Amino acid sequence: AKELYGRTKPHLNIGTMGHVDHGKTTLTAAITKVLSERGLARAVPFGRIDRAPEERDRGITINIAHVEYETDTRHYAHVDMPGHADYVKNMITGAAQVDGAVLVVSAQDGAMPQTREHIVLARQVGVGHLVVALNKADAVRDPELLDLVELEIRDLLTEYGYPGDDTPVVRVSGLRALEGDPYWSARIGDLLDAVDAHIPVPARLLDVPFLMAIENVMTIKGRGTVVTGVVDQGSLAVGEQIQVVGLGAEAGTVTCTSLETFGHSMPHTEAGDSAALLLRGVQRTEVRRGQVVAAPGSVSPHARFTADVRLLTAAEGGRSRPIATGYRPQFHIRTADLVGALTLPDDGVAFPGDSVTMTVDLASPVALSEGLGFAIREGGRTVGAGFVTALLD
Ligand code: GDP
Ligand code: MG
Repeated sequence: AKELYGRTKPHLNIGTMGHVDHGKTTLTAAITKVLSERGLARAVPFGRIDRAPEERDRGITINIAHVEYETDTRHYAHVDMPGHADYVKNMITGAAQVDGAVLVVSAQDGAMPQTREHIVLARQVGVGHLVVALNKADAVRDPELLDLVELEIRDLLTEYGYPGDDTPVVRVSGLRALEGDPYWSARIGDLLDAVDAHIPVPARLLDVPFLMAIENVMTIKGRGTVVTGVVDQGSLAVGEQIQVVGLGAEAGTVTCTSLETFGHSMPHTEAGDSAALLLRGVQRTEVRRGQVVAAPGSVSPHARFTADVRLLTAAEGGRSRPIATGYRPQFHIRTADLVGALTLPDDGVAFPGDSVTMTVDLASPVALSEGLGFAIREGGRTVGAGFVTALLD
């Protein structure tokens, strides 16, 4: 039998973000190493994080590494991703749904273009709290230079609506900590203290119907089909019924016969958990990424809706040219990624930087409700971010 998940500490989902090569993966490995010495984690080597097996579902690569650790007061699931494109895709699609993030900035290089884009992205997808790891501090001798980089990051955070003056900026060296240097190992402790203190346990929606967006589907030999994701809201106990909704799913209910998180079994799962649900009698081909599993009758699929959308500027990674009625970009709604045609009001044209009301016709219905956020992408860039204002079908 599998070890039971204790649920003795509040659970949070966090992740590293920041410009390529600024040390996100090294820092992630260092965190697990430092905490493993305190008996609070299993050390995960750099290579296991950096070369996490790609998960594939119907041609979509989910390139994302998950590690698990505890501090004295919390249990964390931590995501790290290899490349910038993975960040954009996984953060927007919700595969990297985090309650807070560690923004890794190399003290040698300072804020770089992807640093800015990740801050913009974090803002868009509603990551409320950031802590800055000013990494590679071992390689910068001049303390005034460190101060300068710190100021620059604080300004950048403020520019995008984060409390730049009050955000913890901790000088660390992931590399030296990973090598076992006691001074730099202690700085990882400082960083984790800052994360514990600055990223609050989010208010979880527990007293509402269960819903989890499906991130991935797996077959476990001899057991059946498993769907994984982060529970959006509500709770679910082993033996309870759920419904698969969206992308043409059949309307019937299925029973969840087993629940796991990071290889530990659990009698129930709740909002915020990274969960794997074993579904009785469901074939691998009957469920897919982009659908949701939800309490029966609690949510229905829709293809037509109105939305308020802000179009990103080129500096934020968006388009440089306007869009017009009839434009058919990709809509990323929870884990779904599907084409939609949009209709704009008045003259039917909108410019980067504009906030517009639009009507959207999706290629296939997905689980929708008023207030749900989504992103609009085109050819690898994020064009806009918005939320559903009304359901039309
Ligand atoms: P990522 O792309 O942000 O995940 O960056 P990596 O963790 O792969 O690190 C990129 C490079 O920076 C590697 O060569 C690391 O050894 C190096 N590096 C990472 N952290 C530190 C650090 O704290 N100090 C120094 N000097 N180098 C580091
Ligand atoms: Mg990396």
